[in-house]
Formats: sequence, structure tokens, C-alpha cells
Amino acid sequence: MTDVNLLHIALFSAAAIICITGLLFTVIQKRTDLVHNKIYIILVGIVLLNSVSQIIREFAQPFKQNDVYSLAMKIGDYSYFLFHTALCPLFFLYVSCICGARNGLTLKRNIIYASIFIVTELLVIINPLTHWVYHYDQNLTFVRGWGEYLIYFAAGFYLVYSIIMLLFTWSALTAKRRVALIYFFVVVVLGVSLQLIKSSLKVELFAEALALLGVMIAIESEDDRIDVDTGVYNRKALQYDLSSYIVNKRRLTVICVKIINSDLVEHVTGSENADLLPLAVSGFLRQLVPRYCIYNTSPGTFIITVFDSAKALKTAHVIDHRFKRVWHIRDSDVLLNAVIMAAEVPDRIKTASDAFYMADSPVPANKDKTILTDKDLDYLMRRSAVEGALARGVDEGLFEVYYQPTYSLSEKRLHGAEALVRLHDTILGNIYPDEFIPIAEQNGLIDSIDDFVLREVCSFIKSGVPASFGIDCINVNLSVLECMQPGFVDHINKVTDEYGIDKQMINFEITESTAAGNYELLSNVVAALKKSGFHFSMDDYGTGYSNMRAIFMLDFDIVKIDKSILWSAEESELGKIILESSVHMIKQMQREILVEGVETQGQLDLLKALSVDYLQGYFFSKPIPKKEFIELIQNAEKLKG
Ligand code: C2E
Ligand code: CA
Ligand code: CA
Repeated sequence: MTDVNLLHIALFSAAAIICITGLLFTVIQKRTDLVHNKIYIILVGIVLLNSVSQIIREFAQPFKQNDVYSLAMKIGDYSYFLFHTALCPLFFLYVSCICGARNGLTLKRNIIYASIFIVTELLVIINPLTHWVYHYDQNLTFVRGWGEYLIYFAAGFYLVYSIIMLLFTWSALTAKRRVALIYFFVVVVLGVSLQLIKSSLKVELFAEALALLGVMIAIESEDDRIDVDTGVYNRKALQYDLSSYIVNKRRLTVICVKIINSDLVEHVTGSENADLLPLAVSGFLRQLVPRYCIYNTSPGTFIITVFDSAKALKTAHVIDHRFKRVWHIRDSDVLLNAVIMAAEVPDRIKTASDAFYMADSPVPANKDKTILTDKDLDYLMRRSAVEGALARGVDEGLFEVYYQPTYSLSEKRLHGAEALVRLHDTILGNIYPDEFIPIAEQNGLIDSIDDFVLREVCSFIKSGVPASFGIDCINVNLSVLECMQPGFVDHINKVTDEYGIDKQMINFEITESTAAGNYELLSNVVAALKKSGFHFSMDDYGTGYSNMRAIFMLDFDIVKIDKSILWSAEESELGKIILESSVHMIKQMQREILVEGVETQGQLDLLKALSVDYLQGYFFSKPIPKKEFIELIQNAEKLKG
């Protein structure tokens, strides 16, 4: 009779303790609702059961001559084989879930994979009758049969196939997942091979338990995938999940919920409530779809993945419906404006970046629907084409500056011009600034564009042509966002100094709306540039947020009244009152007035009666290329007035 092997007992107990720890953490962290969570729990459960049965076996073995102990030993062995045979097939299933390949497996393949498992499991089940897997000799010593080698072979098949699957979806896995799965394979293969070579080395279960612990730390606890504020998945998780769905050719619908007035709401409810808003929305979404289908990609933007296309549109409508009602945030009820976009993978969304592009691009103002599908989303294609054109334009110098003359009403003469940029793209043709400037402001190319325009204007002024024909100044549009950047004033001075021109000949136009929040900074910039000699105009007066305070605080020379004000003055009595009182007020503030968008004689007469200072519009000339503009100023005596 031999003694109880304490080393074996210690190894099995360690394996059991590791498994219990893994199970406890999984349950405490509530990581139980995804398919791979469930498989993980079964995997750990099997290793735990196996460890316990092996402990029983080890205790019983020295006393195996006794019938009770021998039965305990045999039950221990039998249950070990019964469950352990399922381990590798289950792990294979686990890897296919992690790689996102589970639904990509065809029925035929599923049958092949399942049948190998069923055959080996059947071998174990009928072993008490056949002794094909193992048997006991007359000394009750355990003897391996050919069936056990077959089981090892099957296990090897599942492991190798898991590795192939892993390599196939490698690019779609996070570094953490890659390391965890490789760690798993190395540790398991090492443990299994050692025990296969020398069956008295009982390290297999310990190795498996350790490997599964590694998997839990890296994969099952999803710390790096969760957004701390909302508890749903983050941007990085979407990147990896979508990539793996796409690599595995899964069809799904990506629903993007974009709250477009969250800034305004935050303004009203206070910034201390800023994180309550996404929390409320994510809470609502969690009632609608499982937590693991929701991603918070940026403040105010959520993405949901729906695998049933029939359900997708219904979900979009339910969300849309919810946004028609108020949200109760702390003590106030707020109405959130949201746009819901639904796009199919792989029809419209071919890469994860396509989904981010949809989520990050602003929705055009002309969209009156709140649910956008199919053709409604074509603007994204146009937008990305324009982005391409902008990049080409900057690289290949495809921008051109046009000039639109401005007239002095009192002096009845040509006074200056506004420089307006044009993009002649080789693929899309001519693109107008109303379309590309907002995009350039977002992707940062506006700096190069405005720089180009400024340099063009400087070199035009330096040529001496404008001054020789009595042009007082050329107006240059500036993006307000750009003005707020540090070093802006120095940059402008540096560029104009390079050309050695009279700075008085440049009049910068800015639209104050976007800067509404930061007058202080903007007024410093304006003051500094005015000190250098430049003139300033306030553009688009009467649209958006423009107000009297801005005119006062920012030291403008000229206020440009927007064309919409002029046009509505012609249409209604109220419009006329607005135009007249605007002109009156601006005059009282001792600023000069330019009215743009003059297209008809009627409008001209109206403005003459109000005696504004300057005029600009198609009635005089459209924006024209420099060459034509030079011809126009040469023939200035033909001006209408
Ligand atoms: P904006 O500064 O308000 O420029 C005036 C716009 O009104 C120009 O459009 C001009 O062509 C148009 N316009 C002038 N008179 C009339 C008229 O009588 N009737 C009509 N229907 N339109 C008239 P454009 O050139 O398409 O420019 C659009 C906007 O793009 C500009 O509005 C400006 O905000 C921006 N932009 C243009 N060039 C630049 C630039 O170099 N830099 C920056 N940052 N923005 C620019
Ligand atoms: Ca302008
Ligand atoms: Ca304007």
C-alpha cells in the first residue's frame, strides 16, 4: 500500500482554489450575461469539478483494496473523464466567441466540430462496458486504453483549430486579448504535454486553472472596455467589436443616437449635471437592448449594435419616441434633441471607421427627419468625398481666391472687395465654401486655407494694382476658432510683414456667433490686430447669436448686415422694421454699415434711402477671379450707382 500523494493533493487543491476565486470574481462583477461569460463559467466549473474528483481519487487510491475506496477512486476517474473531455471543445467555443466567429461558423462545420466531441464523450460514457478509454488491471492500477489517446487527439484538434481561428481574426483582437489567449495556450499545452509524457506528473488541471485565471484577468473583467461614467462600453470596445463582426462577416445594424443640443442643455442645467445626462440616456438604452450592445463613443453619442435587422428599425423608432418626451435631470425637465441613424454592416458600414465617421460627423442642418436611414445617410459619403477634395486641394494647390467688389454708396465708387475662396477639385469639380469651410473648420484644414487666402491677398496688394485703382481695402474672412488659437496675432503680423504691405489695406471679417462664449479672448485679439493697423468687420449681422454686446465689446469698424435681413425687408413690413432699426442702432454706435446680398434695383433704392455706407451683391458683381476683377476695376467708371 502506498501513502497519500501530498504533492498531488496540493496541486489539485491549488487548482480548485484558483477556480473558486475565478468563479467568485465573475459572479461578483456580474459578468454573466454574455455567451462567452457563460462558457467561461462552465469551463472553470469543469476544472473545479475535476480537481475535486481528483482529490477524492488521490485520497482513495492508497486504500483501493477496500471496496468502498476503490469505488470512490473509480467514480473519481470516471467523472474526471466525463467532464474533462468537454473542456477543449468548450474552449474552442469560447475562443470563437471572443474572436466574434461563433455565428460565422457554417452548419456543416458545426456538425463536424460537434460530432468529434460527441464521439469522444460517448467513448467515455460507455467505457465501464468497453474499457476502450482506460481500465484497471488486477492490482487496480489505472491503465490507459487507445480511447484516451483518441481523446487527447481530439483535444489537440480543438486547440489547433482555436489557434487557427485566433490567427484569422488576429487584427480584430485587443492586445490584451491576444496576450491572454496565447498565455492560455502555452500554459495548457505545457501542462497537458507534461502529463501526457509522464502520467504521474499531475499538473494538467493546475495548468488549466492557471490559464483560465489569466483569461479572467484579461478578458472576463472588461475594465478597459467600460466607460466609467455610463457603465456601457466605450469607443475602444466598439472599435474592436465592430472589427471582429466585420472580419467574421456578420450582418448587423449600427444605430447611432446623437444628441445635438447637449451643450445647450448643459448650459441650462449647469455643468455639474453634465454627467447625469448621458447616464439617464444610457439607463434608458439598457432597458431596451442588452448592456453589451451599447457603446458611448463621445459625450452625447451612443451606438447600439442590433443583429436582427427587423428589430433594428423598431428599436430606432422606440428611441426616437423616447426623445420626444422630457428627461428628468435632477430638478429640471429637459428636452433632448436627438438624431437616430441606422446603417447596415456591411452594406453601408464596411469598416469600424465608417461607424465612427457616422457618429462623429455633424448632422447637416437641413435634415428635418429625426431617424436617418439608407439614402438619408448619403451626406456622409459626400462629406467624406469633400474631405478628400480638401486634402487634395491643400496638397496640390487647387484653391483659388475670387474677389467680389464692394461699393461706397456716399462716394458712388468702387471701394474694395471681399476675398472668397473657391476649390476646383479634379474629381468633384467646383466646390463652394458654404460646403467645405465648415468641414475644414472641423478637420483643421481651415488654417491652411485661410493662410493661403491671406497670402494671395497680400501678394495682390503688394502688386500695387488695387491701390492704383483707388481700392481702399480687401476683406479677408477669418474663422473665429482660428483667431482664438495662441500665437494667432503674431502669425498674422508675420505673414503680412513678409509682404511688407500697408496693413490698413486688409479688413478682417469675423462672424461672432461661435465665439459667443469667449468675448474676452476675441476682443484681445481684435484689439491687438487693430493696433497693428488692420481693420475689422463683423460679418453676418442678424443671423445666429449676433448681438449688440458683441458690436460694443469687439472694436469693429464695419458691421456687415446679412443678406437675409435685406431680403426679408423687401418681403414684409416687419422685415423692413428690423432692417431700419438695425441700421439706426449701428449708426448710433458709430460703426459703418455694409449691406450684402444686393441683387435688385429695388433693394438698392431701399438702402439708398437708409444711407448705409457700403454695398455688396450680385447687382454689382458676383465673386470673380482676380484677372476679371482687375479688368473690372480698370473699367470702374462704368459702375452703376
Ligand atoms: P460670407 O462671408 O457671408 O460671404 C458672402 C457670401 O455671400 C459669398 O458666398 C458670396 O458669394 C455671397 N453673396 C454675395 N453677394 C450675394 C448676392 O447678391 N446674392 C447671393 N445669393 N449671394 C451673395 P460664398 O463665396 O459662397 O461664401 C460662403 C461663405 O464661406 C462666406 O460667407 C464665408 O463665411 C465663407 N468663406 C468664403 N471664403 C472664405 C475664406 O477664405 N475663409 C473663411 N474662413 N471663410 C470663407
Ligand atoms: Ca464674409
Ligand atoms: Ca456675410
